[in-house]
Amino acid sequence: MNRSNVILPGRTIGILGGGQLGRMMALAGRHMGYRFVTLDPADDSPCGQVSDRQIIAPYHDVDAARALIEMSDVITYEFENVDAQVAEVLSRESYVPQGSKLLYTTQHRLREKRAVEASGVPVAPYMEITDLASLQAGIAQFGIPCVLKTATGGYDGKGQWVLRSPGEAGEAYAELSRAGTELVLEKFIHFEKELSVIAARSPSGEIRTFPAAENIHVHNILHQSIVPARIGAETERRARELAEKIAEGLDVIGLIAVEMFLAPGGELYVNELAPRPHNSGHYTIEACRTSQFEQHIRAICNLPLGSTELTTPAVMVNVLGEHMEPLLKWMEEDDGSLPGGMIAKVHLYGKDESKIHRKMGHVTLLTDRIDIAEQWIEASGIWTEKNSRNSEDQT
Ligand code: AMP
Repeated sequence: MNRSNVILPGRTIGILGGGQLGRMMALAGRHMGYRFVTLDPADDSPCGQVSDRQIIAPYHDVDAARALIEMSDVITYEFENVDAQVAEVLSRESYVPQGSKLLYTTQHRLREKRAVEASGVPVAPYMEITDLASLQAGIAQFGIPCVLKTATGGYDGKGQWVLRSPGEAGEAYAELSRAGTELVLEKFIHFEKELSVIAARSPSGEIRTFPAAENIHVHNILHQSIVPARIGAETERRARELAEKIAEGLDVIGLIAVEMFLAPGGELYVNELAPRPHNSGHYTIEACRTSQFEQHIRAICNLPLGSTELTTPAVMVNVLGEHMEPLLKWMEEDDGSLPGGMIAKVHLYGKDESKIHRKMGHVTLLTDRIDIAEQWIEASGIWTEKNSRNSEDQT
């Protein structure tokens, strides 16, 4: 096993980005004895709050990136839209085991789809859209509905349009092409479930995958992850194998989150990749022998990867701005006695301002009775229809 580039505890990990993913990474790494420095424009960022030091500067500030390099033994990032110039300086002047190639690939839907296909893994049928005529041709080929997406900059359903009639083509094209990036049209998959698998790969080539999560989105934002996913053993095996192929094919170092659709015929199509810890992997903090955050640190520091074994079934439910008030009220009253002996672990990210749809935290419910967890989520009133759901808005 290649043991060069081992970064041992006591060393400093620099994180580009100060959000909740960085925060949970730093919390996991601090348990292991690493030190952290965060670069983020906000002076009280979720990750800055738990880091040893912080650099407050815009993400595209090359001098600030150099200051981060100066203070760090190894650098990682917690979001994928890293400025190209900064990524280049980092890869030239510091040690970024994840490299910049994976970022370059995953920052752009078309490049990402081509890379996934090149690893021998299927994606939903797609086509590059260069003008209105090609969009009309695409609609004729894929049928209605189909989904038009910007190649860059989209997240949580932003930068996409579900075409429900050919007549919407002109309006959708005009709207999305304003983003000034390439467009991609995808066949609409009438999926049975949305799944995700997180894989980790270390510089020595070791790969481990976490159990598949079954994901439920509301307003295009992740609402719940249920683990184990309610799928057959063979589908679980294929989903994990596919994530492993991608980790290998794309030379991943660190984590790669693979979001996929399970079609009614059992086919799996990859929808999207994220080269970092992922919201659908938060359940691993309490429900796996090693969390996704510890695994990421192990991978970039070239330590042996930890066991991903599931120790208990879990339901993770996101806390958005609109859920904060009822959640805090519940916390004031909660005496720890939940139905069926279920355990609730609350994580809040230290964000001051609670805006609608902003990810403020999550709750992981540990129970081998998924039905009890679902009943409690409903009955708690924290995630009521009024607070979180509007099925009209879902694609
Ligand atoms: P994305 O930004 O690509 O992750 O898409 C956000 C959400 O839109 C996904 O989680 C799906 O629920 C839905 N979606 C995206 N693409 C498709 C597709 N080709 N077919 C069906 N649903 C889709």
